[in-house]
Amino acid sequence: MRIGFIGLGNMGAPMAQNIAKAGHKVFGFDLNEINVEGVVVENEIKKAVTGKDVVITMLPDGKILKSVYQEILPLITQNSILIDCSTVDVETAKLVAFNAKSKNLRALDAPVSGGVVGAKNGTLTFMVGGEETAFKSALPLFDIMGQKAILCGENGLGQVAKMCNNMILGISMIGVCEAFLLADKLNFDRQKMFDVVSTSSGYCWSLNAYCPAAGVGPPSPADNHYIPGFSTELMLKDLTLAKKAAQTVSSQIPLGAHAQKIFKSFAESNGKGKDFSAIINYLGDSS
Ligand code: NAD
Repeated sequence: MRIGFIGLGNMGAPMAQNIAKAGHKVFGFDLNEINVEGVVVENEIKKAVTGKDVVITMLPDGKILKSVYQEILPLITQNSILIDCSTVDVETAKLVAFNAKSKNLRALDAPVSGGVVGAKNGTLTFMVGGEETAFKSALPLFDIMGQKAILCGENGLGQVAKMCNNMILGISMIGVCEAFLLADKLNFDRQKMFDVVSTSSGYCWSLNAYCPAAGVGPPSPADNHYIPGFSTELMLKDLTLAKKAAQTVSSQIPLGAHAQKIFKSFAESNGKGKDFSAIINYLGDSS
């Protein structure tokens, strides 16, 4: 397949590289000058998307996605597939898919979980919204870039899945941090707490796989000066998307909304550029 790939940042570059490694011809474009092994990086977006079978986007937010789609939709060959892997709000995901379909293109929202490591290792999880035929055609590419792709339903539902997942993650990370900080004050050893909880009903990904306490559990950003990993800014972005989506459908998310507030304060204090699990230190300082 001939693939156009727009947005060659921390995630996009390794994803594009993996597709090229698998033998597809990949034409990339980014506003920044960047080299990606095996990928033909074009100096104009037009060259990267014209005449391609599939165009993948991996962009920072919904506003940028909308403007990029406006620019590229008239250039793309009919019946081609557009796969947007960025994390954006549900309304934008639905709108860009609608605009693509009205030009006889096939569109999927396919945000990912797994971070930069997953992008490099080709072990991402894709949460996909769109039509089954388009999903099936895109599966070989999801298989290259990831270990699992789940069709969640119509356009927009991939973003809903991502948002719900990351709301749970944000809440559970704060819960795990609070438990460690409470244990500290009650003289309960962190390693012992990990040993107990990781095999008891409090077990969860935030504790078992991504422990925010340094020196405890498997290697995580806590053991590497909280260098991301998954940054505080990205967690705040996803919790803010969840909060806004909940408001539009009048869904009560008291814990999700509170987690958003806590991550916002952390980002505004000294959390930017740090892994989101560093919130353990922020909560510790303010308790
Ligand atoms: P990034 O900032 O590293 O990359 C985004 C790239 O898009 C940049 O290189 C930027 O120059 C480029 N770009 C911006 N506007 C453009 C335009 N108009 N045309 C072409 N290129 C443009 O961000 P990232 O970490 O790669 O994240 C990308 C998306 O993936 C985001 O939506 C993010 O929420 C999501 N995501 C990131 C992670 C992660 O761990 N980094 C995990 C899951 C999901």
